[in-house]
Amino acid sequence: MSRQMTSLVIARVHELALKGQNRPFFKRALYENLRYALRDLPVSRLQERALRYIIRLEDSSVWPEVAERLRWVFGVANFSLGLETALTVEAMQQGLAELLERQGPLQGSFRIRVKRTNKAFPLTSPELERELGRFVQKRTGAPVDLSHPDVTYQVEVLYDRALVSGESLPGPGGLPVGVSGRVVALLSGGYDSPVAAYRLMKRGCFVTFVHFHAYPYVRPISIEKAVELARHLSRYQPPHNRLVIVPIGDAQREIALAAEAPLRVVLYRRLMLRIATEIAREEGAGAIVTGESLGQVASQTLENMRAIGAVTDLPLLRPLVGNNKDEIIAEAVRIGTEPISRIPDDDCCTVFVPLHPATRVTVEQAEAAERAYDVAALVEQCLARRTVYEGDPFRWDPLAALAAATA
Ligand code: ATP
Ligand code: MG
Repeated sequence: MSRQMTSLVIARVHELALKGQNRPFFKRALYENLRYALRDLPVSRLQERALRYIIRLEDSSVWPEVAERLRWVFGVANFSLGLETALTVEAMQQGLAELLERQGPLQGSFRIRVKRTNKAFPLTSPELERELGRFVQKRTGAPVDLSHPDVTYQVEVLYDRALVSGESLPGPGGLPVGVSGRVVALLSGGYDSPVAAYRLMKRGCFVTFVHFHAYPYVRPISIEKAVELARHLSRYQPPHNRLVIVPIGDAQREIALAAEAPLRVVLYRRLMLRIATEIAREEGAGAIVTGESLGQVASQTLENMRAIGAVTDLPLLRPLVGNNKDEIIAEAVRIGTEPISRIPDDDCCTVFVPLHPATRVTVEQAEAAERAYDVAALVEQCLARRTVYEGDPFRWDPLAALAAATA
């Protein structure tokens, strides 16, 4: 590649996502998140201009890695590879040639769209579009289609240089993580809860993960899965990752000794939600997220959801409530959590529980059952043995949570 061309990636934001007064806040958050996502790559400059983030690379060989990272940055609607060239038609052609080489053979039709900020440039936009279009057509044999092209090349004529960019690739969309505050997500080892957490990250939330387990009454595998899931999801929300692991096996045993078997699942869930509410307060979180989907299992009837939800005054967000399992699993595949969720584990909610738990527990029934044990003491006792992981998720050691559970 000739020396005067600089490799770029141009990331674009959806105009609609940027409403009103939050605009500077949104732009700032996205800027910071992009900078963080690219922190260890040879990026010489990151610049925001008119709803686009221009990432200048020291070296075009990192294009694929930058493209991969941008798929994790919420708020990026789409992005393209580009080049900064000198302000001549020949240099722009050279830039297009380089992009064509990079992106492989041009599939289908194309068009060139020129935006001329520099009105002193000798050719008008339509003239330049025709000139560059002829060049690409001659090189590739691909047809021009002005109304429905498969690929659009954009050329921006600035005062001292031009920006040439190619095919635009989809980003993850959504809102930049951080603009919507913090939530606590209840993370089991299953398929649903990581997808639910992802959905809230996509709406701009930092997520604190909370996992409950019954080790040593069951195998420790769910703890390892929770750590692995939080690690995977952390790429979407650096660098504010937190995972809280809470042992509840002893508390479940006390509940099982005091309460009728069919009520136990609802009572365990009420305990979990009380603990999560305490953690949410400490974390400054404004809501609790679960992976519940209506009617999926016995605890997910409207009646039981009510009996469980009654113990918290925080909003309970259930982003998957209307999804089928196959839809949820398809999303888990897309976001990369499926291979972790697929590993068989021991669900703490099945400890000391009959085959057929009650599907219609009322708030009154749950409250009556809880009079047989000291709920507040159980909450405190579980919280005292929690393990809090923060900082770099790849340094989190699941053994710390195991040790705390048996201490
Ligand atoms: P998942 O696939 O997320 O495990 P599920 O279909 O197994 O969900 P349930 O077991 O009823 O459904 O759990 C409903 C929700 O309750 C989960 O999505 C999760 O948010 C929360 N939850 C359940 N078990 C735990 C746990 N051990 N630790 C933290 N949260 C949990
Ligand atoms: Mg589950």
